[in-house]
Amino acid sequence: MTETLEDAVEAADGRALPQPYSYTHHPLVEPDWRRFPGWADITEEEWRSAQWQRSHCVKNVAQLKGVLGDLVDDRFYDDLATDVQRAATMSMLVTPQMLNTMSSSTEASGPGSLTDAFYADAVRRYMLPVFSDRLTDWTSHPHATRDSLHEHEMWAVEGLTHRYPTKVLAEMLPTCPQYCGHCTRMDLVGNSTPTVEKLKFVTKPDTRYQEILDYLRANPGVRDVVVSGGDVANLPWPRLEAFVAALLEIDNIRDIRLASKALMGLPQHWLQDDVRAGMERLATTARKRGVGLAIHTHVNAAQSVTPIVAEAARAMFDAGVRDVRNQGVLMRGVNASVNDLLDLCFSLLDGAGIMPYYFYMCDMIPAAEHWRLSVWEAQALQHGIMGYLPGFATPRIVCDVPYVGKRWVHQVHEYDRERGITYWTKNYRTGIETADAEALERTYEYYDPIHTLPVSGQDWWREHAAASVAEADASREVHS
Ligand code: SF4
Repeated sequence: MTETLEDAVEAADGRALPQPYSYTHHPLVEPDWRRFPGWADITEEEWRSAQWQRSHCVKNVAQLKGVLGDLVDDRFYDDLATDVQRAATMSMLVTPQMLNTMSSSTEASGPGSLTDAFYADAVRRYMLPVFSDRLTDWTSHPHATRDSLHEHEMWAVEGLTHRYPTKVLAEMLPTCPQYCGHCTRMDLVGNSTPTVEKLKFVTKPDTRYQEILDYLRANPGVRDVVVSGGDVANLPWPRLEAFVAALLEIDNIRDIRLASKALMGLPQHWLQDDVRAGMERLATTARKRGVGLAIHTHVNAAQSVTPIVAEAARAMFDAGVRDVRNQGVLMRGVNASVNDLLDLCFSLLDGAGIMPYYFYMCDMIPAAEHWRLSVWEAQALQHGIMGYLPGFATPRIVCDVPYVGKRWVHQVHEYDRERGITYWTKNYRTGIETADAEALERTYEYYDPIHTLPVSGQDWWREHAAASVAEADASREVHS
C-alpha cells in the first residue's frame, strides 16, 4: 500500500520529521591567528601580505612547533616526523592561512590543549598527515602507482596531457604555494621526499610553453585548456599573463580555466594589485573574444572558506572572470559525509559565490588507502547530497578512472563488490589510443580500498594481489 503524505504526518503524531540535512546559513569566520604563540604579534597588515604568508609557510616539524609551541604535545610532532620519514609522498608546505583554519573552534587553554583537536581536524588530516593516520595493513593498494592517471603517457608535448578529445591539461610548473598530502600529481609536484624522488621537466619552461602553444595552434579540435601545475599562483604573473594572452589569440580555444588552490590556500596572492589588474586585462580580452575565462580552485572543508577567501573570489569576479568553481577531493576523515559535503558547498556558494562543481574520488596513489573511499560509498554520498543545493550548484562526484577519465560514480558498468573492482567504459579515445580499434569496447578497472571489502574479498587480495597486478601490466603491454 502506498503511504500518503497524510499517513506519514499522522505516523509522526503531527510532528514534522527532521530532514537528513538541516540547512543553516553560517557567516564566514577568519580565525584569530594570534591564538598561536608563534603569531601572537602578527598584524593584520602582515597577515594580508602574500609575501609574509609565503615566507612564513611551515615546511618542517620544527617550524610547526615554532608556531604552535606546546599547545600541541610531542606525541603529535613525533607522529608527524615519522610520517615525513616513512610515508609522505608530498613535502610539507602549509601556508599560515591554511594552518590558521585548523582547530580554530577549540579553546587553547595550556600545554597540550590542542593536541586532540589537531589530530581530529579535517584540514590537518590532509595537509599535515601523521603516521598513525595511515593504515598499517594495505597502506597502498596493490594497483596504486605514482602517476595513477597515466598523465605522462598522454603528454602530447612535455607537460601537456591530451586525454579527452576536445580538452587538454597544461602543467605549467611543478610547484604550489601549499602541498596537499593526497596530491594526485605526487610523481611530479613538489620537492622529493625520503620515499619519493620526484620527476623533473627536462625542457626549459619558455620552450615548453612555446611547444604547448604550437600544439594547440596545430590542433583545432582542442577548444578547452586547463592551465594548471602545480598551481598557477606560483608562476610569476608576467609569465602567466603572457601564456594566457597567447592562448586567447588561438581561435579554437573557447574555454580557459586557471587552476589555483591558492585562491583558498593563499588568497592574499589573488588580492595583490598587479594580479588583479592583470586578471582584469585577461578577462576583458576574453570577454571581447567570447572565451570563458574561469578559475578552478580546490577546497575540501567548510572551515577553509573564510572572509579573505571570499574577498579573493569577489576580486576575481570584479576583474571579470566568468566563474570561480570548486573541485574538491573526497577523503575519509576530511569530508566523507553528507553533512560535511553540504556544509562545504553552502559555504562556497553562499559565502564566497564559488560554484561547487566536482568532488573527485581520491586517486590510487601510494599510501592513500586511509583517505580513499569505495565507489559504493561515493555513490551513497552523491545520493545524499541531491536536492538541497540548486541543481546548477550540485556537485558531481566523479571517479577518475585510469585510461578513461572522469566518470560520474553512478556510471559504473559492472561492480564486483566482493573484490572491490569496478569496470568502466568510455565513449572517446584518449591521445594514446588513436589507432586502437578496441579502446571503446574494452572495460577499464578501478579498485576500492581493500580494508572496505568483506573478509572473503580481503582474502582474495592476499592471495592474488601480485597476479592481479601482473595481469594488468601484461594487458597494457598488449594494447600499447
Ligand atoms: S594544490 Fe593541487 S597540485 Fe598542488 S599539491 Fe595540492 S593537489 Fe597537488
